[in-house]
Amino acid sequence: MHSVLPYAAGNAHPRFMGWVQGGGTPVGMLAEMLAAGLNANLGGRDQMPLEMERQIVAWMRDLFGLPETASGLFVTGSSMANLIGLLVARTAALGGESRKTGVAASGLRLSAYASADAHGCIAQAMAIAGLGTDALRRVPVDARHRMDVAALARMIAADKAAGQTPFFIAGTAGTVDTGAVDDLAAIAAVAHEHRVWFHIDGAYGALGMLAPDVAPLLAGIGQADSIALDFHKWGQVPYDAGFVLVRREADQLAAFASPAAYLARHPRGLAAGSPWPCDLGPDLSRGFRALKTWFTLVTHGTDAMGAAISHSCALARALGQRVEAHAELELLAPVALSIVCFRYRCEDANAVNAEIVADLHESGIAVPSVTTIDGRTAIRAAIVNHRTTLDDIDALVHAAVACGRRRSGLSGADAAPPPAASRPA
Ligand SMILES: *Cc1c(COP(=O)(O)O)cnc(C)c1O
Repeated sequence: MHSVLPYAAGNAHPRFMGWVQGGGTPVGMLAEMLAAGLNANLGGRDQMPLEMERQIVAWMRDLFGLPETASGLFVTGSSMANLIGLLVARTAALGGESRKTGVAASGLRLSAYASADAHGCIAQAMAIAGLGTDALRRVPVDARHRMDVAALARMIAADKAAGQTPFFIAGTAGTVDTGAVDDLAAIAAVAHEHRVWFHIDGAYGALGMLAPDVAPLLAGIGQADSIALDFHKWGQVPYDAGFVLVRREADQLAAFASPAAYLARHPRGLAAGSPWPCDLGPDLSRGFRALKTWFTLVTHGTDAMGAAISHSCALARALGQRVEAHAELELLAPVALSIVCFRYRCEDANAVNAEIVADLHESGIAVPSVTTIDGRTAIRAAIVNHRTTLDDIDALVHAAVACGRRRSGLSGADAAPPPAASRPA
């Protein structure tokens, strides 16, 4: 209590806007305690906890408009969910035999595509899959940080002409830096034309489908072959709760199901109920992530969760407006969802803005994080926490300006920081 609580990162706090992190829910905490008491292992077996996971798979399938054939799986986070999507696509491209013979035996040179703003875990997945990060083509982005889909089509055509086998396109629904949403329907059309697997990294943005004002931005999401998303971000489910959906269960089974005598199935008894989650991904022992997700979805309801998502986007727009209205601040990227990238205008702005963020962390006033937009260091506020209000936005702006003035040698009454935010008791 004394040694840990005050020294955690604090993402349950309304002024935590660093990186892209959810705030957690009390029912999620209760569910974690119950899950630990039950100590269920969700790798397989014919048990009710698995039916709860399957229920959530069905809800997500319906939310995104995927067909009945779709399968899904809880994983740690979207880093793993994106990796699984890529591995399923790899096996679909090379055939099931490649699991035995290896990637090189096919003689094919597989290439993948993601925007320059895609999350680093896509490149990481290429490395883990043995395909190499050089084979991940980084498609340029437009002024709104969305994938240039015409460039994507040109790159695929050029790669095909050069003897490559394009096998995987990752569109992003909510990029980690700026919250940009790729034109998913346009990417789907290119993927369809070239017969390339269409994966969506929806880690942050996919649950925007719950919000009537955000869902239209995600048009085309239902055409994906696979989708990665995180319930622990906009879904507010306590860590960790990543999720992957695959359009055709047969593809997911082809990539992961393996016979093993000790995992033999039977028509009745606990060994019934095949296929099991261990047939759909690399994990055998798995915790009961579905319970905290089920509790959160059912207790609050999808309307309230959608409203919280809309609210965080409204707060981001308000922050964007405050930044644009303030002579000392500058907006560095358009606000698409609930992420705002801005900076304090001054000499040596890159160094000063990084210090401003560290000052804010140490002051306990607010926690934005740092990123780089077009070579410029940005203060990045990712408003994901459902507890954040307009007062918190104002406190962030006030404190960032105060720190900026102090750091750049300006002082005066306005430079005094506001009182430190209260810490959770
Ligand atoms: C957070 C995030 C990831 C990584 O997800 P984890 O759950 O942290 O593993 C991948 N892509 C995007 C766009 C993200 O926002």
